[in-house]
Amino acid sequence: MGHKGLAYFILDMKQPGVQVHPLKQMNGHASFNQVFFTDAEVEPEMMVCDVGDGWKVATTTLMHERRGADGLRNWATATEKKGRIYEEERAEIATTMEPYKWYPQRAGRVDLVVQRARETGKIADPVLRQEIAKLLIMSKSAEWTARRSRVAQEQDRPQGPEGSLGKLVSSNVARQAARVHTYLTGADALLSGEDSPMNGVIAEILVSVPAGSIAGGTDEIQRNIIAERVLKMPKEHSVDTDKPFRDVPRNIVS
Ligand SMILES: Cc1cc2nc3c(=O)[nH]c(=O)nc-3n(C[C@H](O)[C@H](O)[C@H](O)COP(=O)(O)OP(=O)(O)OC[C@H]3O[C@@H](n4cnc5c(N)ncnc54)[C@H](O)[C@@H]3O)c2cc1C
Repeated sequence: MGHKGLAYFILDMKQPGVQVHPLKQMNGHASFNQVFFTDAEVEPEMMVCDVGDGWKVATTTLMHERRGADGLRNWATATEKKGRIYEEERAEIATTMEPYKWYPQRAGRVDLVVQRARETGKIADPVLRQEIAKLLIMSKSAEWTARRSRVAQEQDRPQGPEGSLGKLVSSNVARQAARVHTYLTGADALLSGEDSPMNGVIAEILVSVPAGSIAGGTDEIQRNIIAERVLKMPKEHSVDTDKPFRDVPRNIVS
């Protein structure tokens, strides 16, 4: 199995040999990085599992991450209260949330659709009403499926591949939401800046939504997981069955 050469560890990102290169996205944000290790050392106590067992830990981490894409995530919010401790809390939340400030746009901003339809007067358009209804039905049924999955976990059932269902459906909801926002706003949806529709939020939706169907595992990978682990369909053909990843033949001249 190609995953058997992997390790999973924690390390100090400021230690020698670790280089972090931010990746700028098409929406202008750079909220994740390319990380390079050059002779960086990992202390034995920082290994999360035995060398070779990293894939098991990685897939468990990813199942949790994917569940987070189901739209039920609670973002940290600061209070208005006065006092040093609240000021420190506000500063900490602002720093922590900085990379995620475009995430609501990445999810398509379903919450804005009806309000925008009213503001633009297009709420009376029968074709558009069908698109909005389709979006709200998809979004509500996704929310209920996600809630069922959360309840299962609260009853101590382990995080399973259902996270993949939530993630895949959230990509579809976001795409339909971007489509509806485009119908509502027309060509002006491409404008960014303060004098553009909703201060550039609509344009940011259009360039942020594609990220959701890649980050945390692409839509195609979620479909494979659903087919193999939920529906128990035959596994995808694999040519690297008994080699660790580093020995899998690649199309690279070394
Ligand atoms: C906005 C954003 C944020 C991200 N954040 C992080 C992060 O915080 N941390 C992190 O580690 N990574 C992060 N990533 C990276 C992300 O996890 C990967 O880009 C993603 O898993 C896809 O892997 P890849 O880019 O290697 O594509 P590839 O695996 O090369 O896939 C290329 C294409 O081939 C398809 N494909 C590949 N394998 C199969 C298959 N078996 N069956 C069918 N189709 C297949 C894919 O669906 C895709 O369309 C982020 C990416 C984005 C876009």
